[in-house]
Amino acid sequence: MNEKSSILIVDDNSDNIRVLGTILRQHNYRVVIAQNGLQALKTLDITKVDLVLLDIMMPGIDGFETCRRIKENTDWEAIPIIFLTAKVEESEIVKGLELGAVDYITKPFNTQVLLARVKTHVQLYQYYQLLRAQACLDGLTQIANRLKFETVLVDEWHRALRMEGYLAVLMIDIDYFKALNDTYGHLAGDQVLKQVAATIDKLAKRASDFVARYGGEEFVVILPNTKLQEALLIAETIRRAIEALAIENKNTTLGQITISLGAAATIPSATMQPMQLIDKADQQLFLAKHNGRNQVQSEK
Ligand SMILES: [Mg+2]
Repeated sequence: MNEKSSILIVDDNSDNIRVLGTILRQHNYRVVIAQNGLQALKTLDITKVDLVLLDIMMPGIDGFETCRRIKENTDWEAIPIIFLTAKVEESEIVKGLELGAVDYITKPFNTQVLLARVKTHVQLYQYYQLLRAQACLDGLTQIANRLKFETVLVDEWHRALRMEGYLAVLMIDIDYFKALNDTYGHLAGDQVLKQVAATIDKLAKRASDFVARYGGEEFVVILPNTKLQEALLIAETIRRAIEALAIENKNTTLGQITISLGAAATIPSATMQPMQLIDKADQQLFLAKHNGRNQVQSEK
């Protein structure tokens, strides 16, 4: 890890902050400071934090309440929290751990013990983030997988529903892919999947555009805030770019790799399900296949 890990110190006592901050900086951590619970929450909103050292007795919301609010936020729930406090009663320790803290250190603390525990939990959190990222990726193509797609689709659907805006999707399928595998072998097929995925990913380039491998040789693109006409332009750009890769596949009409695409767009309504939009795009993909492949189809 090249980047320094960030530790958020939450304490109302500036002497505590200074002592702890010095120790942590000396051990190559980046230190972020908050002097009360609300400030801690605001800090988490704008800063990436790898661990929180949390005092309990503070004016305003106390450490327990701060911990509870961090743990109920889905963006923050996995950030390790260590209570660092003068409270030594077992019932307090149990309460802190039950609120989701990973550890509990009483003041006055032993520096080496504190550093060892911080290091362990920062590392565990890094592993967790790595695994979570990998769980969302398709191993072969390194773009998002079906699982991640399902989450993003629901999120974008609800966002569009709130904003009363358009949501468009493209379903994409590589033409005669099975024949390609039979003719050129599965290793060649894998290479094609990687190249097609990378090309689609490069062309769906707005920050909110999302590309995933839907299954075998099928890909899906989610285009937030996009009307059908715009979606069709993007679809056609992708189709041409795949054609321009000029990868040989003598099983297709052109003698090279091509794709078929189905596009659909809608302004989501509460009575509709997100998968209905996917179904619409899928029906258009079927039509594109039926009409001769290497083309984009959409509802007129
Ligand atoms: Mg305090």
